[in-house]
Amino acid sequence: IYRVFPFLFFIGKAALVKIPSSSSEIPASVPYLLIGGGTASFAAFRAIKSLDAKAKVLIVSEESYLPYMRPPLSKEVWYDPDADKDDELTFKQWNGSEKSLFYEPEDFYISVKSLDESPKGGVAVARGWKITKIDPVKRVAYLEDGHEIKYEKCLLATGATPKMLDVFSKAPEEIQKYVSTFRGIPDYVELNKLVKETESIAIVGGGFLGSELACALARRAKLENPKLKVYQIFKEPGNMHKILPEYLSLWTTNKVSNEGVQVITNSEVQDVKLESNSVSLILNDGNKVSANKVIVAVGVDPNTELARSSGLEVEPDCGGFVVNAELEARSHLFAAGDCSCFYDVKFGRRRVEHHDHAVISGRLAGENMVGAGKPYLHQSMFWSDLGPDIGFEAIGVVDSSLPTVAVFAKASDKDSPKAAVAESDDNIRSNLKANQSKSSTDDTSQKDPSSGKGLSKGENEYGKGVIFYLRNDYVVGIVLWNVFRRMTVARQVLKDEKKYDDLNEVAKLFNIFEE
Ligand code: FAD
Ligand code: NAD
Ligand code: NAD
Repeated sequence: IYRVFPFLFFIGKAALVKIPSSSSEIPASVPYLLIGGGTASFAAFRAIKSLDAKAKVLIVSEESYLPYMRPPLSKEVWYDPDADKDDELTFKQWNGSEKSLFYEPEDFYISVKSLDESPKGGVAVARGWKITKIDPVKRVAYLEDGHEIKYEKCLLATGATPKMLDVFSKAPEEIQKYVSTFRGIPDYVELNKLVKETESIAIVGGGFLGSELACALARRAKLENPKLKVYQIFKEPGNMHKILPEYLSLWTTNKVSNEGVQVITNSEVQDVKLESNSVSLILNDGNKVSANKVIVAVGVDPNTELARSSGLEVEPDCGGFVVNAELEARSHLFAAGDCSCFYDVKFGRRRVEHHDHAVISGRLAGENMVGAGKPYLHQSMFWSDLGPDIGFEAIGVVDSSLPTVAVFAKASDKDSPKAAVAESDDNIRSNLKANQSKSSTDDTSQKDPSSGKGLSKGENEYGKGVIFYLRNDYVVGIVLWNVFRRMTVARQVLKDEKKYDDLNEVAKLFNIFEE
């Protein structure tokens, strides 16, 4: 919908702010140009600055905001009814401590106008501005009004845009008013207003965003609007089905239902009709769901429009700008984060849509822009929380179509995202240091050979565990289910490239049997 009707993005939301208001104030030449104001750009800036202390870095971002983190937008912000107070966009972490969505406050950045003259260098963010073309030979980037910015090194960190389903984008405009996608602060601000008074919200999509947001909105309903019904509609049989093995996906759906979400599985929206102050979603089995708001969370498309105008290559299967293991697309031009399809020396060509990947690839691109020449070797991780009590961390190739072997153990209150955040005081879990200690021999495991049939303790409960994803008998991915601060161990298991006879033994490395 954004691409078809870009103006809709700002209807009823904060107006698009351009800072500076005129492109004449944007430098005509910069040493480092970062395109995009997200996490990958921010990580690149930090890396550049740490290697080149007086670097002058210009970020050009289409968003009206300074760089901020997206993960809390489908999690913590909804558990704290005061999150939007004073427009500061702070939120409470699972352990109750307060944090800002923004990586840095306004006064951390220097103004775009003064970047050129600044003897100490610094980073400036041109907000509300879009780069529409790059000439990689002349090393010039063009703004939408034709203003030219010459660069020495440039990073593409353009992220991704949520997909919309045809059933909504082809519907009449009166219906489209009820339908949104969800990606950034304006989407949150709009939905946060609605949540207080509305009676029904339907989320379409069973992946990360749909599942996290459904749980978060259901908890929020309990806090301040008990009449609100939250529906989650998706075509798979269980939540996060593309990631989790079938039995765990089904178990998770049960948990999501217990959070108060009306989960409608194996279903697609076939038609949509206007009602008095809501829309009626007609599903493939003929059932209807009436909703005052529909949030479509059916994945994203990487933002690669620049490729066409700039002679850049896009990978046809995974989408994303094609870059090598050093994250270089063309000479002096790099790409990182959601928008890049990079060569992973270990697992082949990949594109990854997660926060820690944006941090790690952004940092690597930044280092290479200063001349480090390092390949992508450090695997990124990702995490997901379905509220403060259930969460997982994962690394490598995590795809439920691969064979899996899982080892589960009994969980206690300590095995939750909330407890993990209480210990580290950081909601961004990729920062956590692994805590590797000796493995336990107290074997109370429930070994599950991927089918879910192996449970022996009479309690069909996947409290905490380790799930190994195998390709040709090698471990290529690991999910740590309600197991936290063990990412270094997981990273090492992937690195070892061994064939294991007994993954139960490997699971012990993660101390899951400790009470
Ligand atoms: P983005 O954050 O999308 O930033 C791209 C930036 O580029 C934007 O500012 C955009 O406006 C700008 N831009 C695009 N084109 C242009 C142009 N031509 N000119 C100028 N600017 C441009 N991941 C996790 O691992 N864990 C989580 O718990 C998690 N939760 C999430 C929750 C939500 C609600 C969302 C939306 C995502 C979540 N993610 C999570 C995914 C994670 O946030 C993304 O992978 C990450 O933001 C990618 O960073 P990026 O810098 O590549 O792209
Ligand atoms: P901090 O950890 O309190 O960071 C403040 C905020 O900035 C956090 O939300 C964090 O996620 C974010 N942040 C920090 N470094 C970032 C980066 N390079 N790119 C994007 N976001 C970043 O305090 P701090 O002193 O800034 O960080 C402590 C150390 O941890 C630093 O050396 C930093 O480079 C490192 N770090 C590592 C990772 C990782 O390995 N995934 C991620 C972030 C930070
Ligand atoms: P996703 O890729 O995780 O899930 C896509 C879901 O869309 C699928 O599960 C499916 O139910 C549905 N779908 C796809 N095509 C469809 C179609 N044609 N018709 C009907 N349904 C369809 O993406 P998402 O959940 O929309 O999340 C958006 C982005 O944000 C992704 O990049 C995701 O990785 C990221 N995100 C990550 C986290 C996290 O890492 N914890 C949290 C939130 C969002």
